[in-house]
This record gives sequence, C-alpha cells and structure tokens, in this order.
Amino acid sequence: MRDRATQALVKLAACHQRITTWLRDLGLELKPSKTRITHTLTPTDGNVGFDFLGFHVRQFPVGKTHAGKTGGRHPTRLRFTTLITPSKAALQRHQDALARIIDRHTAAPQAALIQHLNPVIRGWTNYYATVTSSHAFSVMGHHVYLTLRAWAQRRHPHKSRGWIAERYWHLSRGIWTFEAPEGLRLYQHSRTPIRRHVKVQGAKSPYDGDGSYWTIRMGRHPNAPPRVAAMVRRQKGRCALCGLYFRSEDLLEVEHLLPRSCGGDHSHRNLQLIHRHCHDVKTAQDGSCAGQGAEDNSQIAEEPDDAKVSRPVLKTIRSGD
Ligand SMILES: [Zn+2]
Repeated sequence: MRDRATQALVKLAACHQRITTWLRDLGLELKPSKTRITHTLTPTDGNVGFDFLGFHVRQFPVGKTHAGKTGGRHPTRLRFTTLITPSKAALQRHQDALARIIDRHTAAPQAALIQHLNPVIRGWTNYYATVTSSHAFSVMGHHVYLTLRAWAQRRHPHKSRGWIAERYWHLSRGIWTFEAPEGLRLYQHSRTPIRRHVKVQGAKSPYDGDGSYWTIRMGRHPNAPPRVAAMVRRQKGRCALCGLYFRSEDLLEVEHLLPRSCGGDHSHRNLQLIHRHCHDVKTAQDGSCAGQGAEDNSQIAEEPDDAKVSRPVLKTIRSGD
C-alpha cells in the first residue's frame, strides 16, 4: 500500500512539473506556499491529509461494511472513508479567541462576558456543523469550562471551589451551565447539531426530470433557511399554487394565506411557500382580503397585502455540491 502511495506521489510530482512548465509559457506560476503534494490516506514522510479553509481533510482505511462506493455505471467498493474535521490550527485560533475575550472580562459582570462569548461560539460551531465536529465541539466545550473556572477563581481567590461553582454555574435541564443571575446562559458548543452535507447521488443531474429528488434535497440542504426547508418538506417540494416542483434556481416566496392586514398570523398553518411568479399572478388577480365570505364588508378596509410579507427567501440555496 505504501509503495502504491509513493508511486502516486511520484506521478503527481511529474504532473506538478508539467503544470509548472505549461504555466510558465503563460507567464504564471504556482505559489509554493499554497502548493503541496500530499497523500490523504497513507502517511508519507510524516505527512498525511491537508488543511483547507480551517478544515482538515483525511482518509482512513475501513472494512467492507463501512466503505462507500464509487459512482457511475460500474460502482466499486472504496477501501477508505473520508473524514473532514476542524483543523488543528483552527482549533487553536478559536481557543485563543475565546481566551482573549475571557481575559478582557476579568472584572466585568458575568452577563457581559457571556454576551461576548456566545456569538463567537455560535458562529464557529455553525461553520463546522456540516463536517465531523462532535469530538472537536466537546473538546472545545471542556476547554471553555476550564478557562472559565480559572477566571472565576481569579475573581475570588479566598473562596472554596464549591462556593465558586454555586455562584457561577447552575443546573439547567440536568446540565451544569455557566449562567448569570439575570438568566443569560453560555451557549455550549455541543448544542449546535451536526447536519451532514449530503452529496448528490452519482448519476443525478438537475436536468434528469427527477423533480422530487432535487426538491427533497433542497429541503435538507444545510444552507437552506430552516423555515423554508421545513415548508419545502411539508409541501412535498411543490408550489402551493401551481403544484409544480420547486427547482433550485426558482425564486420562492413565503405567503400568508390570510393577509397580515386582515389579522393573519405567522403560524405555519397560515403560511405557504410559492413561486414568486405564481405570487405575482395571484396578486394581480385579487390582492385584497375584502369580501371574503362577508355579507357586510363595509367595515373591512380594502388594503393591498403588505409588500414586506413576501420576499425572496431562497437566495442562499445553491444546487449541487
Ligand atoms: Zn408555482
């Protein structure tokens, strides 16, 4: 296996040489600090895998039952699995950032400290929520606990550990939580759920006419706004007006069945997800709630629907990988 890995690296080195020559003719060159040849499965010269944008990408050998398959018409079984985790450097950066915030709040009230820590922890865990991060999250959570314990002990050098714990930590649903007297709680790393990115199936294409596959995928996409994703699932991927499948490039809108101006609320029973073009057609046809079954509608003002209620919501959804 190691021999095969070495051979592969030698081949890649040859490719590197040819690319370099080819680029030179165009007046370009590869940046040495950003170019590295590495094996992702077999350690070679003490190196394995690579870091990219704060992620560490590496493969591990696995048995038959855990291995995936290649795509295509004649799939073969892979003998490894790919794990993407937060990189060591990224863990260190996050740890330093949290330590700096805690240091800056040595004498500040507990609530102020929590207020500054929470958005940093939330943002960081969201960034890593689509890869293999649970272990990193629990390690970071423990590290935050140790740093906060030191922070509390520095504030009360003459008090017992028990006294300090009782003052700054409280039991919340069976878990010890760093919580201010005002009720503000520290956001824990492990509270961010891992939502694995689902790869597009081997032979699938957005042009294959399998609308349900693509819209169901859209409803599970980690980047889809949660409310829209839930509505896509509830409506089985179809527009509530025209009944056609949503496609990833469609502009979608959330519409109130009973307009806000007529007392409609934001509950999911009063909301439906529709194509923007279907919405435009509908507003051109009615656009008011007056006369809905009422004999005497003199008291219902004829107001057009609130324009702010409908807005494009699916801009963040991208198709494919
Ligand atoms: Zn439609």
